[in-house]
Amino acid sequence: MSENEVKKEEKSAADSLKEQLFYKSKSVFETAPDEVDAAYEYAKGYMAFLDHGKTERECVTEAIRLLTEKGFRPYTFGTEIKAGDKFYYNNHGKSLAAWIVGSGTLEDGVYLAAAHIDSPRVDLKQHPLYEQDGLGFFKTHYYGGIKKYQWTTIPLALHGVVTKADGTTVTVTIGEDDDDPIFYITDLLPHLAGGQMAKTGGAIITGEQLTILIGSRPYEEKTGEAIKLNLMKILNEKYGMVEGDFMSAELCAVPAMKARDIGLDRSLIGAYGHDDRVCAYPELTALMATEQPKHTVMAILADKEEIGSEGNSGMQCAVYFDLIADMAGTLGANEAVVRMNSKCLSADVNAAYDPNFPEVHERMNVCYVNHGVVITKFTGSRGKSGSNDASAEFVGYVRNLLDGANVVWQTSELGKVDAGGGGTVAKYIAQKNVEVVDLGVPVLSMHAPYEVVAKTDVYMTHKALVTFFAE
Ligand code: MN
Ligand code: MN
Repeated sequence: MSENEVKKEEKSAADSLKEQLFYKSKSVFETAPDEVDAAYEYAKGYMAFLDHGKTERECVTEAIRLLTEKGFRPYTFGTEIKAGDKFYYNNHGKSLAAWIVGSGTLEDGVYLAAAHIDSPRVDLKQHPLYEQDGLGFFKTHYYGGIKKYQWTTIPLALHGVVTKADGTTVTVTIGEDDDDPIFYITDLLPHLAGGQMAKTGGAIITGEQLTILIGSRPYEEKTGEAIKLNLMKILNEKYGMVEGDFMSAELCAVPAMKARDIGLDRSLIGAYGHDDRVCAYPELTALMATEQPKHTVMAILADKEEIGSEGNSGMQCAVYFDLIADMAGTLGANEAVVRMNSKCLSADVNAAYDPNFPEVHERMNVCYVNHGVVITKFTGSRGKSGSNDASAEFVGYVRNLLDGANVVWQTSELGKVDAGGGGTVAKYIAQKNVEVVDLGVPVLSMHAPYEVVAKTDVYMTHKALVTFFAE
């Protein structure tokens, strides 16, 4: 044995000890190469879901379509239930709970997964329509946390509903078909942007400057506000609406871009609204893949997370736990015990490490694209303020579960300490005495009009939820 070989052997002993004692996050390509094809295949369904669901309302509609095909039916309070029953509850058309009644006692707890289906966007104001200097515009008020300048000079589509004076509601979708017109927010040419570019990022484009260009052709007969009149006439012909109807409308401008593969290797998905439909869709597919669960398993698709989970469609609304209480009442179970024994994966995204912006991440505690589903023990900002901060025991439980099912996973915090922060629906679920931890997909360019995720991570999130629902 040469001296070199001896050294090699010693190193290998150290290496094996390292392997035994150290932790290293690895990519799905390394640890589960056999699953990559399935991940690519799974992405097709997800991308179709994205193209059908650009608002929370559309996500609810599409989810119900998928669930109905799989035998789920609408629940009404007081319904008799039995093991194996599959239900959904459509909450005001804007949020949804879907579940399968377990074979065990309800007092063993409900296994919940909660994602949100609203995404940052640009909403129309209640008096939006005007013309100025030969152009027609909509005034807007943005929804959720956005970098306002990112929403200029991209194709926008208009989605939403208008409730007219007679009480009827019409649905609006313009800009998704290839021959539809699109809408647009202008920005300044670089030649004249010296003053603008000297401003700080938040002021480059102000909220009031996010006005949407919607036309320029005047009504044929000469009159004041002829462009506005012509635009209103088009809306009236198409939707039967008059200007006052905007006051009772919810119209949202969203990117008029479809989900697409990104990269020569097609490993990534670009789309509007990954946050958080990239967790909502795996919840649905995991629920639909579940047969005869022991626990009652429930997928929640909540609205308004991006503005604080408020309103009667947000996670703070009572309805989700009213549904559980209603079932407890029907089955003669103690509702407080049901909640106490319930477990929840708060399915939301985290910020993936971006090599172009290393300064905001702490490399040991960040999630990486393609390293699998990410468990986020705590969120919040500064000293974990506003965070659920899951218990060691519950994180340990989830960790064991995922390892046992060969789910590739990682952990992360949201950026460096003091770099900023954020929150999820987890804390509102924890208020009900439910064990809860955040789990979801790493995202690049989160909250941008077009975000990026990796196909392998989406698939691992589906697998994680399938495993959880099978508990
Ligand atoms: Mn989110
Ligand atoms: Mn978000």
